[in-house]
Amino acid sequence: QTNTLFIRSFTILFLTCITIKLNLCFSGIPSSLKTLPIDGHFSFDDIHQAARDFGNRYQYFPLAVLHPKSVSDIATTITHIWQMGPGSELTLAARGHGHSLEGQAQAHRGIVINMESLRGPEMQVYTGKFPYVDVPGGELWIKVLHESLKHGLAPKSWTDYLHLSVGGTLSNAGISGQAFRHGPQISNVHQLEVVTGKGEVVTCSEKQNADLFHSILGGLGQFGIITRARISLEPAPKMVKWIRVLYSDFSKFTKDQEHLISAENTFDYIEGFVILNRAGLLNNWRSSFNPQDPVQASQFKSDGRILFCLELAKNYNPDKTNIVNKEIESLLSQLSYISSTLFLSEASYVEFLDRVHLSEVKLRSKGLWEVPHPWLNLLIPRSKIHNFAEEVFGNILTNTSNGPILIYPVNKSKWDNRTSIVLPEEGIFYLVAFLPSAVPSSTGSDGLEHILTQNKRILDFCEAAHLGVKQYLPHYNTQEEWMAHFGSRWEVFIQRKLAYDPLAILAPGQRIFQKAI
Ligand code: FAD
Repeated sequence: QTNTLFIRSFTILFLTCITIKLNLCFSGIPSSLKTLPIDGHFSFDDIHQAARDFGNRYQYFPLAVLHPKSVSDIATTITHIWQMGPGSELTLAARGHGHSLEGQAQAHRGIVINMESLRGPEMQVYTGKFPYVDVPGGELWIKVLHESLKHGLAPKSWTDYLHLSVGGTLSNAGISGQAFRHGPQISNVHQLEVVTGKGEVVTCSEKQNADLFHSILGGLGQFGIITRARISLEPAPKMVKWIRVLYSDFSKFTKDQEHLISAENTFDYIEGFVILNRAGLLNNWRSSFNPQDPVQASQFKSDGRILFCLELAKNYNPDKTNIVNKEIESLLSQLSYISSTLFLSEASYVEFLDRVHLSEVKLRSKGLWEVPHPWLNLLIPRSKIHNFAEEVFGNILTNTSNGPILIYPVNKSKWDNRTSIVLPEEGIFYLVAFLPSAVPSSTGSDGLEHILTQNKRILDFCEAAHLGVKQYLPHYNTQEEWMAHFGSRWEVFIQRKLAYDPLAILAPGQRIFQKAI
């Protein structure tokens, strides 16, 4: 009798799964979504935007886009998918501002949540000794900045570009020139509100549901949807002294960078970039930077050389201009840059932080923003950076000058090793970001195929030379590659997935787990 009961139950379950699948296949749209009790709405036709991203290379169409008006809209939708059980293939991806590179915020025949619709509760700034701001997960950093500035405050750690969502950068790390001191953005969050892959709404922090808190940070969207984040703030400066100096000697360049990120009294922002085959570069800078010595600077030739630019900024308030000038003079006197290449500029704090947006506006006006972006971001251990530079800048990239190449070190001690991000083994590592734009239909060195081949050569070299490099904003096609990426952290990652999203509903565009694991 038990056997018959078992067979009957199994048959019913099997038939239910088949019915759900047939429903999905034939109707195309899970009709049950239409009847879910939510405050916002689903759109089933206007889904094209959700199948695009900044990378402009992958396009997976969802079945529906959820425009939530409340956290409970998100919880209701996930609970609905959760209750369909492992038989359903429906997945769900949060889309922040869609600035992923390889479809990470997309969900093929699944549901995409347009996180920017989740407006409430509104941003709330708390002043006091340890100020912070509570923001919706889909809020853009530029708006977080403006809201905090109303109280004379600002977040401490940034990305170079602020038109990205809080949930999107916290799912990766959020790295910029302040990370050497404050750590990445994921080191500057006090608390999160999350909807897990089971549809549960959970508040988490260092002290409350700490494992979920650490899982989510750098967790590539795998463990829950960030609906709210509490971001640490500091008093905001009004102005920034913005400085660029050049090196032709890579050793001197990195020695100075590492000295500056380790010093007590130092700049507030430390980055750098590589200049390959750029004729007339310094002339281009003149619109925004003044050479300290115009005559000598005009005689400096950048043509055909590999140069390394150290980019620095010091925050200040106008009543302290003299003091900050002296501090900068003293700091610069410790460096070994080419003396004729000191360029200075001043900007308001907002102008400085939002600097990449200016380039966006220019590129958009020329139709050059919405092109393929085959970017490659690597984290490289300090002891291997010379090896890397010699081969990559001196050999692999010799015939190209496509897009910026950022290079700067950060201190690992400012990262929390309980979060989900994986890092190189050493105490200091470099972010090296290759940020090209591909010219559509070009077959030359600025074409997509050529750039992708170059990226592969760089990755192959890193692997063959055992440099211990980790990808930032990682992208892989197989689970074996993901396992290699996570290394000894893979087991923890799997445990977290089983705990918070056991049916592998969330963030399918990262291609880490097949539904279900
Ligand atoms: P999306 O592309 O929308 O999403 C990214 C991933 O996060 C997806 O898997 C998505 O499902 C998930 N996700 C999104 N929102 C949530 C949420 N609320 N909860 C859970 N998961 C979520 N990065 C840096 O660190 N430093 C930089 O200086 C930097 N500069 C950049 C400049 C430009 C021009 C661009 C295009 C990108 C830059 N990035 C930088 C990379 C950027 O941080 C990531 O691509 C980030 O994910 C983009 O945020 P988004 O809101 O567009 O995320």
